Amino acid sequence: MYSKLSAQDKPSVYLSNHTFSSIDNTIGTVSLKGPESKSKLKGENAKRFTLKGNKLSIRKKYIETGTKWYDLTIEAQSVSGPVQETFRLVKDDFHRNRVIAHRGAWKNTGASENSISALQHAVRLGCQGSEFDVHMTLDSGLIVNHDPSFKGKIIHNTSFAELKQLKLSNGENMPGLEEYLAEGMKQNSTKLILELKPTINKERAIQSAGKVYEMVRSMKAEAWIDYISFDYNICLELMRLDPHARVAYLNGDKAPDLLAADKLWGLDYNQSIFQKNPEWIEQANAKGLTINTWTVNDPKLLQWFLDQKIDFITTNEPELLLKMVGK
Ligand code: MG
Repeated sequence: MYSKLSAQDKPSVYLSNHTFSSIDNTIGTVSLKGPESKSKLKGENAKRFTLKGNKLSIRKKYIETGTKWYDLTIEAQSVSGPVQETFRLVKDDFHRNRVIAHRGAWKNTGASENSISALQHAVRLGCQGSEFDVHMTLDSGLIVNHDPSFKGKIIHNTSFAELKQLKLSNGENMPGLEEYLAEGMKQNSTKLILELKPTINKERAIQSAGKVYEMVRSMKAEAWIDYISFDYNICLELMRLDPHARVAYLNGDKAPDLLAADKLWGLDYNQSIFQKNPEWIEQANAKGLTINTWTVNDPKLLQWFLDQKIDFITTNEPELLLKMVGK
């Protein structure tokens, strides 16, 4: 079970990146919420890493060992005493083929949307990412489903335990976020694209972002996760909780310079938005924002987006798009 500590109140050590590769053995920088201080590495894997100033690197001989990840504890001195966090540092074997399976790979596999098996199919196909949708339940649990209701149960008015009993069309139970992440974290080739759904009011939205961050932090899942949301408050809250979180905005109503000013990682807009504002692609590239689009299924349109300089295409046809990119 994950920690029940309040993410907002917990003094945190941050890490700017959670992957390593043989291209560059530098991982990222360590920082602290509050005044900077000297940090040190702890635990059985400390010997595999170096920390110079705040720059964390992996020793080269530990990169190509076949080990998928190491857990590393970093301790820093805060004004109220020592604080420490343990991070999972993951070998970067993630695909770079731009294919994001929308709600997993379900359409051509017989899996239900947003099911564990849809995620497994997306991983098996070799997609760069597998997208899924998360709602907060009445009792502040986190459950994976697209619509705000399922089989007549309104998610924000129903307990997590009750929703967990509901069967998807392929006979699986509706997955909780914890089991969904645990499944996705068994591998290091497909990223997990976590869409946090808007809810009934701003207070609940902020709370849901806190709950998601708390689970991601306690499961050490940062390396795998890119966040997306239609709710700008959710985007900003996720970035407040972890300034290095990769967060993209979905709603299509903000020009790239506004997102860049707020330090978002990217924009993830409906295909029609880019056809209406094709200049946003160049503007987003110039600002260093990642670009994703959804949900593109038509072969001609898939090709049009492949020809643009965009980072990801979210599709119900991952098999087709993988073929188009030569995988
Ligand atoms: Mg979604």
